[in-house]
Amino acid sequence: MINLMWRVGDISITRLVEMELTIPGGPGSPLPDATPENVRPIGWLFPAFATAEGWIKGSIHALLIQTPTQRFIVDTCVGNDKPRNSPGFNQLATNFLADLESLGWSLDSVDGVLCTHLHVDHVGWNTVLRDGRWVPTFPKARYYLGRVEYEHWASELRGMDVTGEKDEYALAMMDTMNTFTDSVKPIMDADLVELVEVDSQIAPGIRLMSTPGHTPGHVSVVIESKGSRAVITGDMMHHPCQIARMDWCSAFDTDNQQSTDTRQSFCEMFADTPTLIIGTHWGGPTAGRLIREGSAYRLDV
Ligand SMILES: [Zn+2]
Repeated sequence: MINLMWRVGDISITRLVEMELTIPGGPGSPLPDATPENVRPIGWLFPAFATAEGWIKGSIHALLIQTPTQRFIVDTCVGNDKPRNSPGFNQLATNFLADLESLGWSLDSVDGVLCTHLHVDHVGWNTVLRDGRWVPTFPKARYYLGRVEYEHWASELRGMDVTGEKDEYALAMMDTMNTFTDSVKPIMDADLVELVEVDSQIAPGIRLMSTPGHTPGHVSVVIESKGSRAVITGDMMHHPCQIARMDWCSAFDTDNQQSTDTRQSFCEMFADTPTLIIGTHWGGPTAGRLIREGSAYRLDV
């Protein structure tokens, strides 16, 4: 597994891969519009971001931000041992933590964890299973979760509580919401969470940027140092094909119009600037610069 690294001023960003996927799009896929027939005409995707057959290259990875004084992890993938309905995510046993430590990142050395949103593949390594209990993986870190995002999920849970038997029913519903229960609640209970606004400054050189649509409180992460800038997309776009076709939505977007509008304004903001765009699920080289091309955009790797 190649761990890519980029420099932004005196901050470094390293990609740590949990799993790589190559998928054909179509019904049932995370990006239904990205069928081989639709992808093939977007020539610049080849060979970096798509296979010769027109399958798109994806990845689930964390991004490790090293500032001169602090360490942050953006999005914590799926995690090990977690019971999940999705077969590709169920009860994983990857070497992710060993790979992290082999980079010199001990678990105690992590100062902060940022989650762009609270989906299953972004919060998994928030916790690990120890002696039958889910406990925080990074005991000395603050976990930065968006307040809007957190309240959305908490309200979804409350919304299922229709019987009036609040405690028991709410508890049962929480058991079905595995991700929230095993990867979010334990860090809340350990008092490690900072609920932050969608435009918060997290640390010198690291701030959040509101990019709603995939989820209501979704954020991207902006890294700035010494006049250079990078942006970590999160899931406001899953693959670079959505730069060329901004109306291609993820099957999991909560609001397709809003996610399309977010991609449009994001591309307008950063096109033809030196800003490095780093994709949270982009396979291949994972990053590039946005170039305006007619009424859409392409990525310059
Ligand atoms: Zn995702």
